[in-house]
Amino acid sequence: MSKVILITGCSSGLGVSLAVQAAQAGHTVYATMRNLSKRAVLDDAVAAAGVTVHVAQLDVQDSASIAACVDQVIAAEGHVDVLINNAGAGFVRSTEQASEEDINWVMDVNFMGVVRCTKALIPHFRERRAGHVVTISSVGGLVGQPFNEIYCAAKFAVEGYMEAMASYISPSFGINFTVVEPGGIASEFAANVMKQVEETGGMLDDEYLPILQKYVGGAQDRAAGGDIYQTADEVAAVVMDCVASDDPPIRTRTSKWGEAFCALKTDLDPDGKKLQSQVVDTFLS
Ligand code: NAP
Repeated sequence: MSKVILITGCSSGLGVSLAVQAAQAGHTVYATMRNLSKRAVLDDAVAAAGVTVHVAQLDVQDSASIAACVDQVIAAEGHVDVLINNAGAGFVRSTEQASEEDINWVMDVNFMGVVRCTKALIPHFRERRAGHVVTISSVGGLVGQPFNEIYCAAKFAVEGYMEAMASYISPSFGINFTVVEPGGIASEFAANVMKQVEETGGMLDDEYLPILQKYVGGAQDRAAGGDIYQTADEVAAVVMDCVASDDPPIRTRTSKWGEAFCALKTDLDPDGKKLQSQVVDTFLS
């Protein structure tokens, strides 16, 4: 069935693959980005695939831009079926090294951005008794990792936010919630993280430096090593399976590596449905 899908963060990486694959699947796609002057990558990918997408401005840190975009899509299409919260940004610094401004920015883009977009569409989905919010989290939304405590905290927040809504909004109003938990994605993400580090003082010469060097040095080996990183197309294909499903998972990893890495947290309930039942039974039966 053809759906109207609004996707955030489509100037690069996974957002581009999501937009192209959603269009290839026959959906009406609103591929959004905060800065329309960065649309060339998307335009090229769309042209190469021979598909059409609508491109619109949306900054997840700006509620007015979100409201304007949602209004634009509903005015044009009459409704929205799926929101894909894809926009996000990494951050590598220890708590001691991170400024409060940096921490607020990481939380704002990765968590509040998801809340803002979801809040903008939930009334519409509730009225229609249908809708699907898909949020791109990370294995870092389940497993804390070195120098990633702020980013992981934002992704953990996203996971709790989505899980809580799945416990009562899904059974009451027929709105599905899915968190997608990729491992590494070959995209601009890592380069943007290092750019952000450089722009905020570089790698600091303190007691954390040898640990950070081990982490950053290892990252190159991990990227070259094979199974941690997926292409954006591979991850997008998993997201598209969730979008196509009549009974989508509440959570899903996107690779065997991600499944194994998170297994201590997810083995008993890989798709989150048992936990959802337990919470409903505990609080709403
Ligand atoms: P990417 O290539 O850096 O793309 C991130 C996208 O988010 C860009 O389009 C970026 O736009 C956008 N964005 C950032 N701030 C925004 C804002 N305020 N408003 C709207 N858009 C904004 O990285 P990616 O790998 O495709 O990341 C996609 C998602 O996957 C993110 O949620 C990320 O946390 C998650 N993820 C990534 C990895 C990985 O290893 N790459 C692993 C697990 C999960 P600009 O071009 O304007 O900055």
